[in-house]
Amino acid sequence: MPRNERITLLRSVLQAHGLDACLLLFLPNIRWLCGFTGTDGALLVTGDQVVFLTDSRYATQAEEQVAADRIVIYRQKLDGIVETLSDTAARRCGFEAATMTWGQWQKLSEKLSDKVELVGVEDDLARLRTIKSQDEVAGLRAVAALHRQAYAAIEEMLRPGVREKEIAFELELTLRRLGAEEKSFDYIVASGARGAMPHGVASDKCLQAGELVTLDFGARMNGWCSDETVTVAVGEISSELRRIYDIVLAAHDAAIAAIKPGMSLKELDAVARDMIVEAGYGDCFGHGLGHGVGLEIHEYPAISPRAEGLVEEGMVITVEPGIYVPKLGGCRIEDTVLVTSDGAEPLTVLPKSFKRYC
Ligand code: ZN
Ligand code: ZN
Repeated sequence: MPRNERITLLRSVLQAHGLDACLLLFLPNIRWLCGFTGTDGALLVTGDQVVFLTDSRYATQAEEQVAADRIVIYRQKLDGIVETLSDTAARRCGFEAATMTWGQWQKLSEKLSDKVELVGVEDDLARLRTIKSQDEVAGLRAVAALHRQAYAAIEEMLRPGVREKEIAFELELTLRRLGAEEKSFDYIVASGARGAMPHGVASDKCLQAGELVTLDFGARMNGWCSDETVTVAVGEISSELRRIYDIVLAAHDAAIAAIKPGMSLKELDAVARDMIVEAGYGDCFGHGLGHGVGLEIHEYPAISPRAEGLVEEGMVITVEPGIYVPKLGGCRIEDTVLVTSDGAEPLTVLPKSFKRYC
């Protein structure tokens, strides 16, 4: 989406909330709205002005990257914001209620006293980036496509005796060699009984024959995140582990096949959850079915039994059912998909059919 359309979208939020300015401090929102990729700054948007504020470390970078009417270099961040805001004659200024800290809010309110009213805007600001444009989808697709080579690089490590951490490291290294800036989260490599921890970050444990191994990984490239999980067998696994795999895969496939704009997020979660409950593993699937992916690895929407809201065309979401059985092990299978006008198109590329190594 061109930057000016993004600013227009933000201004429509301002209008809907009766605001004449908005202060953005959350970096993914700042990046999306004005292009700044540094790690400290603020963006102030009014009905007719876009002002970017940062400190001297980022002066040159801001000149090169930022699309704004004006760039302000501050010595002290909150003072810079207050001065700039006072210059605009705004009376009601929105802020990101979901991410501004209590300390920031308190200091800002104090400095602004009764000149400007700060108004927390929660959902509409957290959801600005929900519907992805074609070029945004292209960015998400490009980073997800790197997984093919990254996975190929670790396939020969899927054997007894290899440490989980070594696999995580090799995945990250390969993704960075391929052009990613960084990993998009701490990788989960969870083998055997550790697989029962949905977020079992790679440890010093070595893979053993007879285990399922869950690998959940992704990268960030040009800001866009990827997220994918495969679970594979090392050696002969028990019939119960194989059954768990088949249930999770069936739930994963059914949920992706069911995706349609207009269905509720809750309904989508239920497609996979009902199958897992029916198979007798309802207590072993404690997390939501998925989440939005974009400039953040986890963003709106959360897809869970408690979710409000609808599946919409242009969302990029994960579908990641799992079954986690304490002491035995676990399985999760995850793809990131684009919601299209009549279904879903996977952006992640690895095959999800059952695979056994060694
Ligand atoms: Zn994941
Ligand atoms: Zn995920």
